[in-house]
Amino acid sequence: MFRKIRYRLFLSNLLVLGLVLLGSAFAVRLVFISNLKQQANERLMAIALNTAGSAEMDEGEFEWEMEFSPQLLEEAQQAFQWFDPKGELLEQQGSTRYISTLPLAAEPTVRSQIDEKGLEVITLPIFDKNNRQLIGYLRATQSLEEIDETIAKLDVGLAVGAIVAIVLSSLGSGWLNSQAMQPIEESFNRLKQFTADASHELRSPLMAISTNAEVALTYPEGIRPGDEEKFQAIAMATEQMSQLTEDLLLLACTDRVSSFEFERINLTTLLTDLIKLYKPQAQTKQIELKAEIAIGLWLNGDEAKLIRAFTNLIQNAIQYTPVGGEVEVSSKRLGRELLVTIEDTGIGIDSKHLDRIFDRLWRADRSRSYYEGGSGLGLAITKAIVERHKGTITVTSQPNVGSCFDVRLPTATESKRL
Ligand code: ADP
Repeated sequence: MFRKIRYRLFLSNLLVLGLVLLGSAFAVRLVFISNLKQQANERLMAIALNTAGSAEMDEGEFEWEMEFSPQLLEEAQQAFQWFDPKGELLEQQGSTRYISTLPLAAEPTVRSQIDEKGLEVITLPIFDKNNRQLIGYLRATQSLEEIDETIAKLDVGLAVGAIVAIVLSSLGSGWLNSQAMQPIEESFNRLKQFTADASHELRSPLMAISTNAEVALTYPEGIRPGDEEKFQAIAMATEQMSQLTEDLLLLACTDRVSSFEFERINLTTLLTDLIKLYKPQAQTKQIELKAEIAIGLWLNGDEAKLIRAFTNLIQNAIQYTPVGGEVEVSSKRLGRELLVTIEDTGIGIDSKHLDRIFDRLWRADRSRSYYEGGSGLGLAITKAIVERHKGTITVTSQPNVGSCFDVRLPTATESKRL
């Protein structure tokens, strides 16, 4: 049970951590990329403004002073183009790789774009310093390859960082989980031990009460008239309490390896005997108890405990099926598993209760007294026994139609035929 909780806790921690890491990495990446792009844009804009500032009209001729060395432009992965006011290209500097193929929008506004080659393109209109007339355009472009390379490196860094963080924190969370679970496990074990000890200690006084009540009832002549009924009630209550303490003791001990004696068991015989045993009880309720048990079903298990588990299921099926109903016990081999199905046409269980029926002391009809119904420990005991045999128990049910309990148990490794 605790292994399952630890595992779930570990997975939840890992999931939360993974989501937090993913979210933070995404946020860091977003901020980093937008800063990088903004810086590149500001740099290109500054160069473009500076370059455009050197242009002027000289005797009707559009002239500029800034000349860039081809090597410098290649290194900076930049290019510049000059256009007349109509958008006709006058000159270009820089490698064609860094020259944009975007058509120039001849509008007197500053534009910043990314073209289909992934180049950053800044278009500046140039005005005459004296009469403020549009005299041409400067288009500055730069490659964003360097930024892409930096982003790729950042991605690798973030991925490696996330993996290292997840590995380290899994180790840390495993350790923290075991630290946190230790006291819970200890107190749960202490509680279980207490239940086992208390149930054990209650056995003797209950036995004493029961024996005395029985002795008193054996000689009714020694009892005051009218007290016989009281002694009968004492005997009955003691019987119920003894059963309850035995159930609590069994539940408290199901996790202890030593409390189970595993041996090779013939499930076919075990189930057939149980059906024979419960046939008369079913008949008194006019319930048809049917059986379809395959032969040669072998498994490794504790016979007494398995009898207890299947008894609970068969007794419940008979108890919760009205007069004239049907109960069918079937069993077969399914690959490496043995499937035992106990199906009834009884009162069924509401779907909202199905999750709870294996809980300790849970009963659908709480208004029924302990004498009428059971203690609510039966299915908890059955589940604990089945799980101790590395098996599973599931239920499907429909109110007023019936219930079907499926028990799957691993088959014995070497199969012996009947
Ligand atoms: P109980 O001793 O009360 O039978 P169990 O643990 O065996 O305790 O069962 C718990 C509850 O589950 C029962 O009180 C009953 O409400 C419901 N239940 C169990 N088996 C059946 C069944 N075959 N049909 C309908 N209800 C069932």
